[in-house]
Amino acid sequence: MIQRVVAGSSELDQTIEQIQEEALSAIADAKEMEQVNTLSVKYLGRKGVVTMYLRNVSSLPPEDRREAGRKGNQAKKAIEEGLKAAACRLSSKAEEKAGADAIDVTLPGRPAPAGSLHPITHITRRICDIFVKMGFDIAEGPEVEADYYNFEALNIPKNHPARDMQDTFYISENIVLRTHTSPIQVRIMERYAPPVRVVAPGKVYRCDSDLTHTPMFHQVEGLLVDEHISFGDLKGVLTALVHQLFDEHLSLRFRPSFFPFTEPSAEVDILCVMCRGKGCKVCSGTGWLEVLGCGMVHPAVFENLGYDTTRYGGFAFGMGVERLAMLKYGINDIRLFYENDARFLRQF
Ligand SMILES: [Zn+2]
Repeated sequence: MIQRVVAGSSELDQTIEQIQEEALSAIADAKEMEQVNTLSVKYLGRKGVVTMYLRNVSSLPPEDRREAGRKGNQAKKAIEEGLKAAACRLSSKAEEKAGADAIDVTLPGRPAPAGSLHPITHITRRICDIFVKMGFDIAEGPEVEADYYNFEALNIPKNHPARDMQDTFYISENIVLRTHTSPIQVRIMERYAPPVRVVAPGKVYRCDSDLTHTPMFHQVEGLLVDEHISFGDLKGVLTALVHQLFDEHLSLRFRPSFFPFTEPSAEVDILCVMCRGKGCKVCSGTGWLEVLGCGMVHPAVFENLGYDTTRYGGFAFGMGVERLAMLKYGINDIRLFYENDARFLRQF
């Protein structure tokens, strides 16, 4: 009866093999480190089942001690190994779990998406910067404008055929959405005596919509009034603009044109930036692209504003910002500027 160790506890009525089997199975089922610790105490602690069994071996008859001691030690060793394996299994599981939740300080941060300037804002600022360096001031004015500032003061009286050149949005008979930023120049001339050097960027409105026109678009117009101003000054200023905006070797030409508020008037063409003059779809095979309108300010405009035309002369010019942006960035549809597609906008 060596396996039956008599001690008050019912557990100790089991054979040492049963104890070992039960212990190993409980250890294998353990889900938490705490359970493993409890089992360790239960079987191998100071008053543990196996410990008590081994302690009782000395009270057995001498002929049974050896065999009982061997079996007890074997069980103890097996349980110890089981506990070690379970501890190992659970701690690596815990590490895995901690790894999933833990903060890895070596990972690169998630970048917060940053906004950027709209290409139209970007190029408007670029154009203004170029003029500011040449001594021009920047001026702004209302988008809802009196007919007088938008047309009449600029030598475009009612029923003048030139009004057909601009498809105007009328708010009322005498109030319009400005069709150009030229009214700002009139407002400046009303307030300041010459010399005047000003560029006026801003939104303008015309009833027009296709691949290259939108009902709202942006212009930068400029005015310079001083003594001894010639067409040569105008050419110099606009050549400097084109060279700084595109590249310093780009050719440009001045072609006679008509505007009611300038005389003489000219359109400025630049050598096609796509084909360099060879002729392509963008330039309709001509090798040139129209980018600006300009001219010497018509004396009638100065007279309207009380400027002394015997002493002062000046020039004015205007350009569409979208058109310049399309040429500079190679964009073929003006509507892309207003669709707010982040994939498009991110490229600038
Ligand atoms: Zn071309």
